[in-house]
Amino acid sequence: MIQFKNNHITVFESQLFKTTSTVIETDDCVIVVDPTWLPSEVEEIRDYVNKIKNKKPIYLLFTHSDWDHILGYGAFPDAIVIASKELYERKDKDQIINQIKVFDDKYYIDRDYPISYPKIDIVVSEDGQVLNIEGTSLTFYKAKGHTDDGLFSIVEPYGIWIAGDYLSDVEFPYIYFSSEEYEKTLAKTDLILKKHDVKLLVPGHGHATENIDEIQKRKKESLDYIRELRSAILSKRDSFYLLEKYSYLRAMKDFHEGNIRLLKKEIGK
Ligand SMILES: [Zn+2]
Repeated sequence: MIQFKNNHITVFESQLFKTTSTVIETDDCVIVVDPTWLPSEVEEIRDYVNKIKNKKPIYLLFTHSDWDHILGYGAFPDAIVIASKELYERKDKDQIINQIKVFDDKYYIDRDYPISYPKIDIVVSEDGQVLNIEGTSLTFYKAKGHTDDGLFSIVEPYGIWIAGDYLSDVEFPYIYFSSEEYEKTLAKTDLILKKHDVKLLVPGHGHATENIDEIQKRKKESLDYIRELRSAILSKRDSFYLLEKYSYLRAMKDFHEGNIRLLKKEIGK
């Protein structure tokens, strides 16, 4: 499953949707991000964490509340859980859990851990909030737009940017919450690159990159997609040409149609 690895980070890639699960090992702790998808995949990540943790505490970070990103929660019962205030306060937790159960039933999947909504130990409520774990520090930025409860996390001293469902090289923006907020989140890229010595970006789907130009390129492509989609809707033009550079179009067109519906609502059309 390993897509990228160095001394401090292992990025696992699921067979489904190129979803990434990240394990960061520092002198002070082990940080696990969105451990997910198939039972054997969650098991592989858990086994790896158990192998490297020694006596270090495990922190489990959720980038946002989409069901595919939180379904591994129960496999790490001893972890200290970090997520946004918005994820913590969601009113539709039962619905999110139900989506996991529907998926597992659909494919006759059994898991050796319970499925439940994460109980959050460390709630991130401020943009720029910092969590220090001895010599390791995590700086969080609110990342709304895809959902209303996303977080960017910068792990230092290693310069790892955990981006959740933004800045992917395989997906255009999937906008479930707000296109305007999505643009504001993308705009944080410049601030983050200025404030932090970013050495690696890990998106929630797709490929990690060590290349700053590549991060800027992904930001620009996402912004272009949103702005061109908005302008296409306003002038009643077709917008499916925006998907030309992506693979998996038979599935992705549904997400594009979802974006069209949301933007139409926002514009009032
Ligand atoms: Zn996702």
